[in-house]
Amino acid sequence: TRTVVAVDGPAGSGKSSVSRAAARELGFAFLDTGAAYRALAWLALERAVDLDDADAVFGLLADWDYRISTDPDDVRVWVAGTEVTQAIRETRVSSVVSSVARVPAVREALGRHFRLTLDEPGAPGVIAEGRDITTVVAPDASVRVLLTASESVRLARRAGELGSVTREELARQVTERDRRDSQVVDFMTAADGVTTLDSSELDFDQTVRALVTI
Ligand code: C5P
Repeated sequence: TRTVVAVDGPAGSGKSSVSRAAARELGFAFLDTGAAYRALAWLALERAVDLDDADAVFGLLADWDYRISTDPDDVRVWVAGTEVTQAIRETRVSSVVSSVARVPAVREALGRHFRLTLDEPGAPGVIAEGRDITTVVAPDASVRVLLTASESVRLARRAGELGSVTREELARQVTERDRRDSQVVDFMTAADGVTTLDSSELDFDQTVRALVTI
């Protein structure tokens, strides 16, 4: 079994880009677990499935044929024969993804899928990032980190990513998604044995450096 690094944190903490850069530097694989929830939400929208119908959402997993590359230099996502790497980042997906993520059967199925990916042979280690990696998916990971940043810093970083949305609207969306997600998993406080990395005062490179050091 290979070295597993688990990284959790809220939206806009920078965990995805920071984890990817750290994986690149360490020669590790990189697993973005949020992409799976996003791909499922995308498929639900595509097939016009009622997002409040937990059974129907879970049913989508039967033939969703989800694939994600774990090469930190080339992260791409496919679902049901379509590449959705860009599409799953759209606001229409972000605004409904919490609905699919709160279905317990979905979380169990995706958790199993993530664990299989962590165990795959290949790179000597893997960095997996999400909301419940340090606590549920890989509680026995070699390294467990909660990447945090103050709310104002997180909102500013998201605003930089999505230039077209007004700041107020963006702040509302991110806060609402974190609020809904926190009802399902607690990713705002570090669990026992989890190292908190607060990036509020660090720039991107410093944060990557800090994660690599841990
Ligand atoms: O990390 P990202 O913002 O792409 O995650 C998208 C959504 O997927 C989150 O808002 C959350 O609803 C869900 N998620 C989750 N558990 C994870 C990763 C993501 O519930 N481990």
